[in-house]
Amino acid sequence: MVTQAPIIIWFRRDFRFSDHEALSAAHSSGRPIIPIFIFDEVFEALGAAPKWRLGLAIECFKKKLERMGSNLILRRGNACEILQELVNETGALDVYWSRAYDPVSIHRDTKVKSLLNGTSFKGHVLFEPWVPKTKSGENFKVYTPFWRHVSSQLTVNSTLSKISKLHSPHVWPKSDLLSNWGLGEEMNRGRNVVSKYINVGEEVALNKLENFIVSKVNGYKIDRDFPMRHATSGLSENLTYGEISPRLIFNSLRNTFDKNDLGAEHFLKELVWREFAYHLLWHFPKLDTQCWRGEWNDFPWKGINKNAKAWMQGRTGQSFVDAGMRELYTTGTMHNRLRMIVGSYLTKHLQTDWRIGLKWFEDCLIDWDPASNAMGWQWIAGCGADAAPYFRIFNPNLQAEKFDSDGQYRKKWLEADKELHAKAFFDAIPVAWKLSADKINQNEIIDLSLGRKIALDAYAIFKKQ
Ligand SMILES: Cc1cc2nc3c(=O)[nH]c(=O)nc-3n(C[C@H](O)[C@H](O)[C@H](O)COP(=O)(O)OP(=O)(O)OC[C@H]3O[C@@H](n4cnc5c(N)ncnc54)[C@H](O)[C@@H]3O)c2cc1C
Repeated sequence: MVTQAPIIIWFRRDFRFSDHEALSAAHSSGRPIIPIFIFDEVFEALGAAPKWRLGLAIECFKKKLERMGSNLILRRGNACEILQELVNETGALDVYWSRAYDPVSIHRDTKVKSLLNGTSFKGHVLFEPWVPKTKSGENFKVYTPFWRHVSSQLTVNSTLSKISKLHSPHVWPKSDLLSNWGLGEEMNRGRNVVSKYINVGEEVALNKLENFIVSKVNGYKIDRDFPMRHATSGLSENLTYGEISPRLIFNSLRNTFDKNDLGAEHFLKELVWREFAYHLLWHFPKLDTQCWRGEWNDFPWKGINKNAKAWMQGRTGQSFVDAGMRELYTTGTMHNRLRMIVGSYLTKHLQTDWRIGLKWFEDCLIDWDPASNAMGWQWIAGCGADAAPYFRIFNPNLQAEKFDSDGQYRKKWLEADKELHAKAFFDAIPVAWKLSADKINQNEIIDLSLGRKIALDAYAIFKKQ
């Protein structure tokens, strides 16, 4: 019997079977498949919460592969070297993977391609970020024309997986133990608390999508802005780890509803914001470090400061802001409306550099995404593409009146004597913060009108220069 050379599938942020082009191509070749995950410098650099959540995604996916008679080989180190070793060890002729679009991954993948017989496939986004072009052949800088362009031109195909078994090699290469990598170590502070709020794996993601379509999408357009209505899909953490593909989401929504359904259309628009973020990142790889509008690099942002630390710890004395920051720390996620409010407060009332907020989110968010996070921060700070103008300063109290008029969201996160969730925050925080529910100081760190004036004055001076 002739032994066929195996195909290595290098998993990164694509822990699923459905709509997985690399896996489908390998499966249909009929050759043995060696799935591998490499914990390399790209993943070493992750913040505490995303690194921990990554470990859970790997664990869940490994079990799924094992149920299919396969395995997930785990190795730690330089991806080029490990893949070369594995090719030599197993006689594999091809390495397949799904593309990533952040600059560090692109650099690494280009190197791997130059050394090995590597083939990359799409799968993390609806369409390749370099494809959409304006009529004059430029990249898009404004969201609405981008949406119009992609929604009229886009045909995306996706399929639920029919794979029930994967061919194994005769001998499995050696693998590390996931538990030895210590991916959750930096989350020692609140891992057990945050774990109650997360949803890991492809099956869970598919159920969330179905639940969203059945019971939430009709009210999405209006309800999505109210944090206590729980009206959004909650799919961002699964998209981040590729436990569901954006194309599958797009098609499920598009096939289920006709064009007149405003909820579905609005949802697809939000999904396309994620695409816009990848489009921006592709054309401006420094999206997380440099202002997209270059002139804003001269804005006199403050570096790390006492008030910014109070912001991180949910003790600014602004109840809506503090509730949002505590939700973030306790659950690893934050409602989109709150992300905008806390971002505006940090960059405007507190005059603090958007990159400080970006880094904090990067450490705390289980749905941390390099493109969406950077775009979101630049948008709210006023220095990004199609950004909210700087002088649009969210007033947290007015926002609370509008989107939390009965105070239920603030109660949920601030009333530790009555609410389980609010209590959980104090279980999740490090001892070094020296905070407890009975000692927390609720005085405003800055008066809202004064903060607004300081921000507008700084803006006026900046504009004159
Ligand atoms: C300062 C700031 C930082 C952010 N950081 C991240 C991040 O690190 N990771 C992340 O996934 N999203 C980020 N967002 C976008 C948004 O807040 C989240 O995608 C959303 O809250 C996720 O909840 P959901 O899945 O229930 O969203 P839904 O309302 O159900 O939306 C469906 C999907 O559309 C996409 N989407 C929705 N809104 C946006 C948006 N404004 N920008 C980009 N994509 C969007 C997401 O993939 C989301 O899962 C950020 C927004 C801001 C203002």
